[in-house]
Amino acid sequence: MRNKFEMKILVLNAGSSSLKFKLFDYPGRKVLLEGIAEKIGEEESYIRINEMREQTRFNNHFEALKYLIESDDFSYSPEEITAVGHRVVHGGNTFVRPVVITQEVKKKIRELFVLAPLHNPSNLTGIETAEKLFPHAIQAAVFDTAFHASIPEYEHRYAIPTHFYEKGIRQYGFHGISHAYVSKKAREKLQSEENKIITLHLGNGASATAIQNGKSIATSMGFGPLPGLMMGTRPGDLDPTIILYLQETLGFSSDEIARILNKESGLKAITGYNDMRTIEKLYEDGNRKALLALEMYTRRIKKYIGAYMAILNGVDALVFTGGVGENSVLVRAWSLLDMEFAGIHLDLERNKNPHSFNGEIHHQQSKVKIYVIPTDEELEIAEQTYNLINS
Ligand code: ADP
Repeated sequence: MRNKFEMKILVLNAGSSSLKFKLFDYPGRKVLLEGIAEKIGEEESYIRINEMREQTRFNNHFEALKYLIESDDFSYSPEEITAVGHRVVHGGNTFVRPVVITQEVKKKIRELFVLAPLHNPSNLTGIETAEKLFPHAIQAAVFDTAFHASIPEYEHRYAIPTHFYEKGIRQYGFHGISHAYVSKKAREKLQSEENKIITLHLGNGASATAIQNGKSIATSMGFGPLPGLMMGTRPGDLDPTIILYLQETLGFSSDEIARILNKESGLKAITGYNDMRTIEKLYEDGNRKALLALEMYTRRIKKYIGAYMAILNGVDALVFTGGVGENSVLVRAWSLLDMEFAGIHLDLERNKNPHSFNGEIHHQQSKVKIYVIPTDEELEIAEQTYNLINS
């Protein structure tokens, strides 16, 4: 017998030329189908549904989503989808929890385009596309910034004149959906309500978050996604004087500087590559640039762990996630080198093969637990959507 808690939830994560999707059956959380459409608007656009990949021309997100629901793999009628959960990157000061999408919500997401010009417009396109193709479904927005809304003012303020703060210039933080998901998993492992966790989301973008009793109290990204850890193509923390110097003395335009900081910095700037697998390979072959990049990358992670341990007054668990965090034995080992003084003691054998140890890679002498937890942002969006509907 069906009850009100039984439903199908489609999760959509719309990028400028991509559309990631995952369909869940609740309350069992069974994944019915997942995939991605990429290079939307380009000649070589394609869609992958589960294991099947099909080259098809999609001019826009609407065509891609329509293709999906008309495909044989999508054996449900649009009316069977109770809700569509959308990832929205920037919620600004307005959205600190998931919401059901209304005209007013869309207007506010549009107003936030100025804060997230690379993401919010595509996220809104995803919403409008789903509204057309799933007119009966509840549309919900889950924000990447919302998890960090608990960061106190003394942490999220920048020490610049107050009128800038009043215009919304403050730290927002990102990757919140991932930090929320993996910290929840870590809290389940710790089996305690009160705990201190540092989550390290190391993907192409990367950020660290300090979490006290389930709440974010500090994070390494800021007003935008540039600061904090070193990333694939972004620099992480940078002296703002450099930007003034690039502009005034070296004559770069703001567009050029934006490109340099978003696309040409980080690992790519040091080695020519942004993919950690390539860099590790180069390092193994004795490449000095790759060695330097890895030293820089892991030193920055270590610094954030130290800083966050200080403000948390210790730490119960460190969590590695994201493509690099989940897979790079070397990055985890170098980031935690010589931290036994702080109770952090990595088990080198376990680190080589976390999956055989339930993702628990700390040495038995370690005071601090060290976990590798694969992130699942789509599942977290589905969870938040489900809870929103049932609340
Ligand atoms: P995004 O931030 O785009 O979601 P991911 O979380 O998928 O990215 O992470 C992408 C990064 O993960 C890339 O730099 C890639 O090199 C790295 N990565 C994936 N697999 C491995 C691996 N086996 N070893 C080292 N790095 C890896």
